[in-house]
Amino acid sequence: MKIEMHFHTSETSPCGSVPAAIAVREYAKAGYTGMVVTDHFNRYVLESFPGSPHEKVDRYLRGYDIAREEGEKSGITVLMGAESCIAGGPEDFLLYGIERDFLYEYPRLYAMTQEEVYKACRDYGALLYQAHPFRSGCRPRDPAFLDGVEIYNGNRRHENHNADAAAFARRHGLLVSSGSDFHEYEDLAQGGLCLPYSVSSGAELPAALQSGGFTLIQEGESVSGTL
Ligand SMILES: [Zn+2]
Ligand SMILES: [Zn+2]
Repeated sequence: MKIEMHFHTSETSPCGSVPAAIAVREYAKAGYTGMVVTDHFNRYVLESFPGSPHEKVDRYLRGYDIAREEGEKSGITVLMGAESCIAGGPEDFLLYGIERDFLYEYPRLYAMTQEEVYKACRDYGALLYQAHPFRSGCRPRDPAFLDGVEIYNGNRRHENHNADAAAFARRHGLLVSSGSDFHEYEDLAQGGLCLPYSVSSGAELPAALQSGGFTLIQEGESVSGTL
């Protein structure tokens, strides 16, 4: 299964420029059979949405809901994820293996400490990765409260220092991932994973990421031997 691990929609992420349905169709055309929607779950995003915490989460999930609906038509499995900031810095974290109930339970995820988010993920059965930890303006956060690290980020509008991220993951024995960080057409299909088997629900994703045996897509090419 060729799966995109870092993807934004224009419906939910203010910095995303491509509507979910169009992007999903493009990913299907590019040969992907899975994608994880990781829109920004940040304070400024959630506070811009009206209503109760529950309603804000529903509005946040609009990009995911549209992507999932289009995925069913296009034959591509769309899974829920999130990219959230946390207390104590500007760094971004990717959550894999969450479903709606997780966000309903933690509608202020962005105000929690890294340890609290890590424990919430662990209790739920989800995984916490730091996204692009060496991007300019970011620093690697506490590896004791991380499951993994995004060691390839395909966004070309930032200096991501991906090699430093890979060394950090190795040094601390953390899981690794790759994602396009899709915001614009130029990001399409730059990153992702080639999993040895298919995942059909968010709940199955953590086990697939923990079992290894996959290759990372980097600059649109599958790179073997990274794991
Ligand atoms: Zn963004
Ligand atoms: Zn992102």
